[in-house]
Amino acid sequence: MCGIVGYIGDNPAYEILIKGLHRLEYRGYDSAGVAMVNGKGDLNVYKTRGKVDDLERFCQSKDIEGCVGIAHTRWATHGEPNDVNAHPHISRSGRIALVHNGTIENYGVLKEALELQGCTFQSETDTEVLVKLIEYIKETNDCSLVEAVREALKEVVGAYAIAVIDTEDPDTIIGARKSSPLVIGIGNGETFLASDATPIIEYTDKVVYLNDDEIAIIRRGEPLKIITTDNESAKIDIQTLKLSVSQLEKGGFPHFMLKEIFEQPRTIRDCVRGRIGNTGSAVTLSGVIEHADKFLAARRIIIVACGTSWHAGLIGKRLIEEAARIPVEVAYASEFRYSNPIVTPEDIVIAISQSGETADTLAAIQIARKRGAFVYGVCNVVGSSIARATDSGTYIHVGPEIGVASTKAFTGQVTVLTMLALAIGQLRHTIREEDVAKTVEALRNLPELIKKTLKLNDKIEHLSGIFTYAHNFLYLGRGYNFPSALEGALKLKEISYIHAEGYPAAEMKHGPIALIDRELPTVFIAPNDDLHEKIISNIQQVKARGGAVIAVVTKGDTTIAEIADHIIEIPEVPEAVSPIIVSIPLQLLAYHIAVKKGCNVDMPRNLAKSVTVE
Ligand code: GLU
Repeated sequence: MCGIVGYIGDNPAYEILIKGLHRLEYRGYDSAGVAMVNGKGDLNVYKTRGKVDDLERFCQSKDIEGCVGIAHTRWATHGEPNDVNAHPHISRSGRIALVHNGTIENYGVLKEALELQGCTFQSETDTEVLVKLIEYIKETNDCSLVEAVREALKEVVGAYAIAVIDTEDPDTIIGARKSSPLVIGIGNGETFLASDATPIIEYTDKVVYLNDDEIAIIRRGEPLKIITTDNESAKIDIQTLKLSVSQLEKGGFPHFMLKEIFEQPRTIRDCVRGRIGNTGSAVTLSGVIEHADKFLAARRIIIVACGTSWHAGLIGKRLIEEAARIPVEVAYASEFRYSNPIVTPEDIVIAISQSGETADTLAAIQIARKRGAFVYGVCNVVGSSIARATDSGTYIHVGPEIGVASTKAFTGQVTVLTMLALAIGQLRHTIREEDVAKTVEALRNLPELIKKTLKLNDKIEHLSGIFTYAHNFLYLGRGYNFPSALEGALKLKEISYIHAEGYPAAEMKHGPIALIDRELPTVFIAPNDDLHEKIISNIQQVKARGGAVIAVVTKGDTTIAEIADHIIEIPEVPEAVSPIIVSIPLQLLAYHIAVKKGCNVDMPRNLAKSVTVE
């Protein structure tokens, strides 16, 4: 996944690069590095295993002078996270430095060919092959850096966003992308380059999103130039960012994750704003209105997503089938793309991704479009690759999510899918107006209800202390809240490293019940709904076998209160919106257990937020 930053201008590059890396650290934090050309024209490269803080310590008392530089925070794909594999990688002569986000699939063949030419390699990365290939072409063809990069990229199979500097051409940065994001910030006499806009926003709000197969030529004192890998000049579309620096800071919370959990009353308000009114039951989604013909003609909907977004998709399936009576399938994008999927022009494919950069989801979209389906995106990051690759869509508008474990993006996705289900149902006349009105009213009340639910924080913090001993957890739910169980379990395992499984509560009898003993706590998601009686029986079955039960119930549920060991009471809500409310205590439970275990909740080991590799 990795984060890339680049700077060229009149200010010291180091501080800008380091600050940028901190902003991009959510993308990977296995190692970090910088390369800068100083006033004497020397290339200084500093890199180290660990986080950006480690890099800063490493750079103390080093020559960090220079107004041109590139930097990287890594999520390793090729080679373990160590100092040697850290980026930037340098060419044989030591003159060219390169940072890379992505994977070079044919790096083995390229490496062998270069070895035959006498090249040697220090790292195990695919990236080092690329920088050596660029220099080899530059020397053999006696051409410019940009020409060598262009030629090299024609040889490469895979995904990349790169930034390259060369001491022979010290006032230039070359950037290029294919399937990994790259944004260029245009300031006053200075230019920035980064994996997303967060390192740029402090300096300028004017940005250009590079497209696949484009190469940016950034020269000091010259306007930005973009060419394609086929050497044609490309259009420069300057856009204005709508992002503020305060959105990228912790605002007094100890972790981004907690800040983002507590932001949810506001993010849900932003998400529904302009889409449902202060009164009435209309749901206005421009993406549905403008493409009404597609939604009227649709025979089937296929939702493609990964991770938490896939869980949101499972809830979306139930919502859409209920409201719009269209069959919905939910596929892991990574499986879908390699399955020769049956997709026809009568299908609608909904792609869900917080970052809008998820590589597998992007590939799934391309297949779906090729087969004639209409593709609808549900993304958070405005202008992201998926948002641009879809025919239409709805942004969730929850603001930057920095904690690696998704919280506010999940509730935003489910909220958008709820509105989408209602909008399609209204269009197709498959849902009764009173049912729409009831759900719209619930959506309107969500910010207040979430605020109330967040008051559970102290109680959950206390409860979490009891369960830090656990090595395993079971999460069980039914109906709309079976996906909530999956998401609750995922939250816990990704940040606390406690193994957790989510299951449909009734499926417990077909296997997981064998695990139940005093050591295995079970979280039951059991708000008042049509299946309430059934889930009470499931709780009894766990209690009968000596298991500890934490139950998330609707306020006033005395029946479950009597059987469960611990209850977490949420406000009464209609079943269709219950997954949104239920997710709040599950997020808090995972958060507090992880904090009590001393885990780094914002940067859990081995994970990264924006999954731009397969
Ligand atoms: N493939 C490169 C490496 O392993 C970049 C990784 C990435 O972007 O995730 O260092």
